[in-house]
Amino acid sequence: MNLKIAFLQLTPEKRIEDNIKKGAAACRKAAEMGADIALFPEMFSCGYSIPQDINELKSIAISKDSGFVNAFKDLSKELSMAIAVTFLEKHEPKPRNSVVLFDRCGKEVLHYSKVHTCAFDAEKVLCGGDGFCVSELDFGRGKVKVGSMICFDREFPESARILGLSGAELILAPNACPMEINRLSALRTRAYENMLAVATCNYPTGQPDCNGRSSLFDGVPWLLSEPGIRDMCTFLAPGAEDVYIAELDLDQLRKHREEDVMGDKFRRPEKYKILLENNGGKERITPPAADYKAENIFMQAAIDEARDGIYNGDGGPFGCVIVKDGKVLGRGHNSVILNNDSTCHGEIAAIRDAEENLKTHDLSDCELYTTGEPCAMCLAACMWANIERVYYGCTIEDNSQIGFRDRKIDGMLGGRKNINGYLTEIDRKACLKLFEEYLKLDKTIY
Ligand SMILES: [Zn+2]
Repeated sequence: MNLKIAFLQLTPEKRIEDNIKKGAAACRKAAEMGADIALFPEMFSCGYSIPQDINELKSIAISKDSGFVNAFKDLSKELSMAIAVTFLEKHEPKPRNSVVLFDRCGKEVLHYSKVHTCAFDAEKVLCGGDGFCVSELDFGRGKVKVGSMICFDREFPESARILGLSGAELILAPNACPMEINRLSALRTRAYENMLAVATCNYPTGQPDCNGRSSLFDGVPWLLSEPGIRDMCTFLAPGAEDVYIAELDLDQLRKHREEDVMGDKFRRPEKYKILLENNGGKERITPPAADYKAENIFMQAAIDEARDGIYNGDGGPFGCVIVKDGKVLGRGHNSVILNNDSTCHGEIAAIRDAEENLKTHDLSDCELYTTGEPCAMCLAACMWANIERVYYGCTIEDNSQIGFRDRKIDGMLGGRKNINGYLTEIDRKACLKLFEEYLKLDKTIY
């Protein structure tokens, strides 16, 4: 099954009404050529012209319900062809760089705004989008899972990876910059590593800083059934203004996705922590020197973990290390807030870290040190992991004093009188100091 993609490689006009006319004529031409989807270059409503004066900028920003967007919505229905229309979108506090995809019935199937705005340049007056999304597009003869990344978004491998992990088979990439060998290579790579197709529509030569060369990379570098290597670039437009069409063999792509080894098949996300830690350019804060110290070196290591977490806003003051033969083999701290995950307790994080490091699910002969007496969940996790013994600093009552619900939950489960001997309190004084420090930071209690 071939999906026909039209690249509307158009020079924009000065006025939005003229862009409607020009865009509509190009869509009609694409439909005559048999296109299933027509794709515009980036921000076609204003021809990627971005006034730096905020009032002027706001005056040309348009909503999803504007005449411009609706013209293409109506046209998609009339021509029975999906249209991905791009525009400077009205948004508070600042406008966005957006695309809406209408299916052949005029129904909106995708609405996304460029996440990585070119904040180093004219786009510093815009807001970034909320994230990436994938939708299923019914194009009449079949269905395809579609996502989008606009221009600078494609320079970040994370964009295409997220779309790939969300199931995208095809990424639509509206563009407005020179498509030279390195950028084209990046598109090839995004297609290759994620086992998906990338269709990019650029402005033609003549538009400032643009050179046409709209492209389709079909995501299939080889076929297991056939010898040799394929060129995944199945279409590359010249620089000239025109409507170009390319066909994407969806069956071939799907077969490759089933059989081959890239994409999500052999990923190791547990090793990618740094990708999230540096999210949004947020640097980790190094906690200031503390005026207290634990007597036990492993409890001190657990306190250090906890302090790293609380100063960075990850969650509560609960750090944890796992020790075997006098060596720390795993560590972790509470990150309930960071991950929006009520199960991200320090003990769980440390168990996962130790098991990953030791390549086993069995932590027999290991001891666990934690700044707060483990909750029922973590206690059970310690037992599942065969941890020999648990040393804790603050008690369940102490945890409750600073607002955590351990005692309440423990009460509902019938207390812990049957596990005497498994838990040992040490260094409570130092851990209480940690709790005090946490309260002073005035962080969210959950
Ligand atoms: Zn817990």
